[in-house]
Amino acid sequence: ASGVAVQAIWQSSLIHPESLPFDISQLPEVFSTFRSRVEKYAVPILAPLAAPRTLPPLPDNFNEDAPSFDVSLDVSPPPEEMRSAFPYFTAACRVDEPGAQAHLAQYLARKLPHTYKATRNALIGIDYSSKWSPFLALGTISARQIMAALRRFEAEHGANEGSYWLWFELLWRDYFRFLHLKHGVRLYRASGLSALPPPTHDAAAFKRWTQGHSGQPFVDAAMRELSATGYLSNRMRQVAASFLIHDLGCDWRAGAAWYESQLIDYDVYSNQGNWLYLAGRGTDPRGGRRFNPHKQAADYDADGRYTALWRDDSPHVRGGMA
Ligand SMILES: Cc1cc2nc3c(=O)[nH]c(=O)nc-3n(C[C@H](O)[C@H](O)[C@H](O)COP(=O)(O)OP(=O)(O)OC[C@H]3O[C@@H](n4cnc5c(N)ncnc54)[C@H](O)[C@@H]3O)c2cc1C
Repeated sequence: ASGVAVQAIWQSSLIHPESLPFDISQLPEVFSTFRSRVEKYAVPILAPLAAPRTLPPLPDNFNEDAPSFDVSLDVSPPPEEMRSAFPYFTAACRVDEPGAQAHLAQYLARKLPHTYKATRNALIGIDYSSKWSPFLALGTISARQIMAALRRFEAEHGANEGSYWLWFELLWRDYFRFLHLKHGVRLYRASGLSALPPPTHDAAAFKRWTQGHSGQPFVDAAMRELSATGYLSNRMRQVAASFLIHDLGCDWRAGAAWYESQLIDYDVYSNQGNWLYLAGRGTDPRGGRRFNPHKQAADYDADGRYTALWRDDSPHVRGGMA
């Protein structure tokens, strides 16, 4: 209406939707089919664009007197939780743009992509996975910038299963974006893409789950970590989500909303897609995925260190407990 031309540029995914070897309406319903078609047709990943050197002038009719808003909120920052796997309050995890570049550079300089596949299911510390998600979610780095750097790393130091697996995971991120383009609001319905009846819900059990008081120690550790830090490993996101859906009989959408309220790397596509998938209301041919929490704890926390680390409800802050 104001005569300003708006140019939209797609930057959300590694692969441009128009580069796919099929129309988005034909997106395979199964991730592995999608991945093999992307790899078979060597679908190009667009190179990142250079930052603009200058900004164009403001439009002639721009009103310089437009009101500005004071958006400062009177909210005290959360405690600096020293057990965090992504301590964003430290210099090593600053989530602004220079911090994003520095984080990526040190991850590659230490050759961590080579060990990613072996460490990605660990639960404690910063280095077990890339921790790219907070930067991606805030937009201080793009998936294309990461991928370009990863390809340079592979050219210099060699590709292996670990570096491949990082591409594989970033492709999951793309897949959930494309799934949204294909199915839109259907991904938010109680039944999702399935013909299943709407899920049950138990409000009291849901509340206990959010508070880390479900009574299942491994799950409760995860829920405390999430509340205290805003971050959770992929393994524990799965275990806690599965427990809510399949053991407590709660509505998967309530769980998705809880993660949305807590995660510092909240991403609507990845969050909704993963919850839908675990609830068996998405495109997974295997139906709902229940993770047995006892087996998961035995497999991934055999010495009980993770469960013990988060047994305590009170924050562990610099210089002592809060
Ligand atoms: C129930 C549930 C909810 C989730 N919600 C979110 C969310 O809100 N935001 C978010 O970024 N991720 C979400 N994930 C995906 C995944 O858990 C995180 O991306 C990952 O743990 C972030 O840590 P990282 O950057 O160290 O990941 P890495 O293991 O190092 O992976 C590298 C990158 O690949 C992508 N990736 C990895 N796993 C997945 C996956 N399963 N789905 C989509 N992309 C993936 C991410 O961009 C990640 O940064 C969710 C997973 C589950 C099971």
